[in-house]
This record gives sequence, structure tokens and C-alpha cells, in this order.
Amino acid sequence: MSDLAAAKQILKKVFGFADFRPGQEEIVGAILSGAPVLAVMPTGSGKSLCYQLPALLGDGLTLVVSPLIALMRDQVGQMCALGVPAATLNSQTSEEEAAKIWRDIRAGALKLLYVSPERLALDGLTEALSHARVSRVAVDEAHCICEWGHDFRPEYRLIRESVEKIGAVQAIAFTATADSAMRAEIAERLFASPPKVFVHSFDRPNIALKFAAKDQPRKQLLRFLSARRGQSGIVYCASRAGTERLAEFFAGQSFETIVYHAGLDQARRNANQDRFLREDGVIAFATIAFGMGVNKPDVRFVAHADMPSSIESYYQEIGRAGRDGLPAETLTLYGLEDMALRRRQIDEKDLGDERRRFEHQRLSALGALCEAAACRRQILLGHFNEQAPPCGACDFCRGEILVRDGAIEAQKALSAVYRTGQRFGLNYLSDLLTGADNEALRRNGHDALKTFGVGADRTKQDWASTFRQLFAAGALRTASAEHGGFALTEKGEAILRGREGFMLRDDPPREKAPRQTSKTARDAAAAGARETTPGENQIFEALRKLRREIARDEGVAAYLVFADRTLLEMAERRPATLDALRGIYGVGERKIALYGEPFLEAIAQASD
Ligand code: ADP
Ligand code: ZN
Repeated sequence: MSDLAAAKQILKKVFGFADFRPGQEEIVGAILSGAPVLAVMPTGSGKSLCYQLPALLGDGLTLVVSPLIALMRDQVGQMCALGVPAATLNSQTSEEEAAKIWRDIRAGALKLLYVSPERLALDGLTEALSHARVSRVAVDEAHCICEWGHDFRPEYRLIRESVEKIGAVQAIAFTATADSAMRAEIAERLFASPPKVFVHSFDRPNIALKFAAKDQPRKQLLRFLSARRGQSGIVYCASRAGTERLAEFFAGQSFETIVYHAGLDQARRNANQDRFLREDGVIAFATIAFGMGVNKPDVRFVAHADMPSSIESYYQEIGRAGRDGLPAETLTLYGLEDMALRRRQIDEKDLGDERRRFEHQRLSALGALCEAAACRRQILLGHFNEQAPPCGACDFCRGEILVRDGAIEAQKALSAVYRTGQRFGLNYLSDLLTGADNEALRRNGHDALKTFGVGADRTKQDWASTFRQLFAAGALRTASAEHGGFALTEKGEAILRGREGFMLRDDPPREKAPRQTSKTARDAAAAGARETTPGENQIFEALRKLRREIARDEGVAAYLVFADRTLLEMAERRPATLDALRGIYGVGERKIALYGEPFLEAIAQASD
């Protein structure tokens, strides 16, 4: 049997998956051929499997270098749930545990060993490993080796030397974020010879993108979360205080909530994260400190209460939703204040001119995505140099965003900026356009301008939105660091003089309060927003209950027993025998042995 055929058998038997996901087969094939490999695949696309599966073929040990203890623990937990012998050596491993691990290694009983880069850099460890049968070293989150990247970890620079000390083993590396410059840096710093490079699409078709201007953020979030009660999700906030405030508010609305930010002590952080991972339907209110170690496959939504810091971080953060491939949703709230704050932060930072320009560009790209009057996915993928047809799933494609020719409005707004000397902000200018009775306007004599009241046919909010869009599109910039006033950019001039057009997004009228949904409907929605028959719902409910009980008894996360997708398939196909159960997503031999009977029984009972 060829290596790849054997790999496919293990895929089915151990992992319970019928097929490789796109990209996995080529990568696994290259790894099995012994080549050095660098694979760039988006979060949730199944990177881990690419090194876990080859580890089960042949009898050597696969070393996995990973930057976070939580990540390692999570993966070891997943492997053990599948019956794969795996362990982790890190700063929290006791001597006793370490001794057992070494016994297992010497006996050739361990397949996967997860180590932190600090640990690997210790001479004792490399020395001991050089006498063990290590077949390859897999480096996870390989972008941590890049100095300019957002997650630079100096210890990553030591990996290559450690690999050489261990012996002539194969090096393979994985990351979700690496542009071509970073890929070159990884290839050079991590590998002794040029690796085979695989770059997989950044598209995550199951994640629907939605943006809204921040208007009444609590209400907007409440609407979004109410429609998704019972689902697991993350709400990212820009500040620690923001996470606390929102979590408290939503706990008061009977949502299950946890808080996560770097200001909490370690024990509290771990406990909160554990609760999020283990239980169904918990919402994490978190700063960006939350996420890297979060491998929960059934996160159904990610919301941003404040604008993310860049497209890259936006992409990483929403990428934590829908790892199981089932539909997941996002909502990003953005405000002019967010954008102005970020601009000021960049201006105040001690950066060289070139870097500053670069950071401003990055921010503008994000602003353009937020204010886009086009398919969000196309814009997002375009940012990563990928082309795609309109997605059909984002707010724009679903027709929730209307655009029209806005050249006239844009010119009125820009001329208001120009005629008042390019130093006033949103409120002042909107008052000017609507001809409002404003003391400051009168004092400055601006009520005598031609522009005064020229936009009285629209509301102040309409004008505020127009200014936001012009700002996001790069037609306006902040006039100075201290004040929120606007000045025209080159693009703004071009629009004002009629050399360039402008499409205006018509914000939809405010939605009404959320519709009440029944509990079963909500749970079905929680499981992936697909249509189900009443009988199916009942079975799904029963299976979820069983899963909860088992998870509690065994003290493991619910998804480690079975994934949502697995329960959904069971409810739909109602297998009656262990063999039929084998055909279901995520059901491998170990899960059959452990849980097969009770689940069959539950299906039979609930089907009556
Ligand atoms: P990444 O490391 O790329 O972020 P993971 O390795 O965590 O992604 O995989 C995401 C999810 O996809 C996991 O729940 C995993 O079990 C699942 N998965 C991986 N490979 C397959 C496959 N071939 N078929 C079905 N599901 C898969
Ligand atoms: Zn779209």
C-alpha cells in the first residue's frame, strides 16, 4: 500500500474523516516523501492534521514546537481523545510527568511530543532527543520567527540549531499568516535547505462577513447576540474595561459570559478560558489577548464591539469562528472615533516615516473594508492578493447594503470642509450642512456661508455617515493630531472638483427588536443555521444532552466527545448500527469503542 493510501486509512479510522480537506493531501504527501515543507494555510483549514497524521505512519517520534502552553494542552487533549499517544513538555510539566514521558519515548510508545521553543533550546533536551528516534520536527505558528511580524518570539530563532543538534531530521513548518516576505524569512531562518512551499487560499467560505457603523453599540450587539442565544461566540473589545462592561451587561440579559484580558491574573484567565472551551453556549468578552490558544471548533460567531486594529488582525480574529466548517457569522462595529483614535496612535508612536506611512495604509485598508460598497469577501481576499467571485453570503451580497451615486452629497460635504478652513469635525460640519442653530457656527460667521443649510434635505446622522465614508475611503484625513477636524486629501480634492466620482452607501433604516425564536429553533441555529426537520431537532437535542453528560463525567470539553457536525449528521442519518456510525463525520475507532453504544441508544430512543 502506498504511503498516501495508508494515510487515508488512518484519516478514516483514527480521525473519522472521509476525505482530506483542500490542500491537506498535497502537504501530507510532501511530508511523507521526506521533503522539508512550509505550509501556509488559514486558521481552521486543518493544519494540525497535516503533521498529526504523518506522525502515525512509521515508528519515529514527531516533535511539535508550539508557542503556547494552552495550545499544546488542547492538542494533546484532542490526540488522547482519538487514542493517539501524545504528551507535552513545558514549564508546567512536573518531574514525575516528565519521567513518564521519557520512559514512553525510550519505549517508542509516544507518537507526538509538544514542546515550547524555550524548552527545546535547552541543551539537555536536544541531547536526550538526539538519542531518541525523532523522525521530524513540526514548527507551528512559524511566523513567530519573523521580526516584523505581530507575534515575534526570539526563541524561534533557536529552533534551527536545535533541530541540527537532534540529528538529520525533517523540518516542517506551518503558519496561518505569512506574506511572501515572511515566507522567505521563515524559509531562510528555519530550514537548512529550501523547503517545498504550499500556500493555501485564505478563503473561509463558511464565515459570513457583516459590518455596521457603530450607532447604539449595545443595542446592535444585543440584537446580534439575541438571535444567537445558546451558541458559543467571542466578542472582541478594544479595551479591558470594555470587556468587563459588556460582559456585565450581557450577563444581566441572561447570557452565559466570561471575560478575558491580560489584566486578569493567570488563574482567573485559565479558568475563564477553560469554561469557554468546555461548555456549550458561552460568550467570551475579550481583548485581542484571547484567541491564540483557542482551538474550539464550534465557535459560531465572532463580533467586534470596536474596530479591529488591521485587516490582518481582523482576519485572524474572525478566523476563530467556524473551524468545524459549519456556517459561522461575524459582526464588526466600527466608528469614526475608533478610526481617528487609531490614526492618532500611529502618529504618536515613535516610528520612522516609512513605517508610519505603511501603518496608515494598513489602517485605511481596514477602513475601506468597513465602509465598503462591494462584496466584503472580495475585498478581504483582494487584500491577500486573491481573486474571488462575489460570495453571496456577506451583508453586501445579501442586499443589506444599498449603494447609489453619491457624488453630489460628497461634494457638498467636502466643500463644507474646505470653506470652513479644513479644521472642523463631524458634528460641526453636519450642523453646518443641515443649517442647524449652533452657537459656534454663528460665532465663526459660518452661518453666512453658501454651504450653510445646503444639505437640509438630509438628517444630521446621514451627513455624519457621509463624512465617515469619505474618511474611510481616504478622501478626508484628520487635520491635526490634537483635534478631530478634517482636511481634504488629494482624492478628496478630485471628488470636490468632479474629477472623481463617489459611491455612497445608504445605511439601512434601524432594525426592529429581535424576533423571538423558539428554543429548538435556536438550538438548531446554534448548530449551524441549517434547516432541520422537527424529528431531527429532537434527536439533536437528545444527543447534545448525552454529550454534555459524558463531557461532565469525563471532565473534558464537549467537542472532544463529538463535534456539533457529528451530532447533526447522526440526527439526520439516524445510524442504527456501529458500522453505520463509522460512516459519520468525526467518528473514528476509538470514539466508536468509547461512545458508540450510548449514542446509538440515544438515537434509537429519540427517534421513537
Ligand atoms: P488550524 O490548525 O488550521 O487552525 P485545525 O487543525 O484546528 O485548524 O482544524 C480545524 C478543524 O478542522 C478541527 O476541528 C479538525 O478536526 C477539522 N479537520 C481537520 N482536517 C479535517 C478533514 N480532513 N475533514 C474534516 N475535518 C477536518
Ligand atoms: Zn459577498
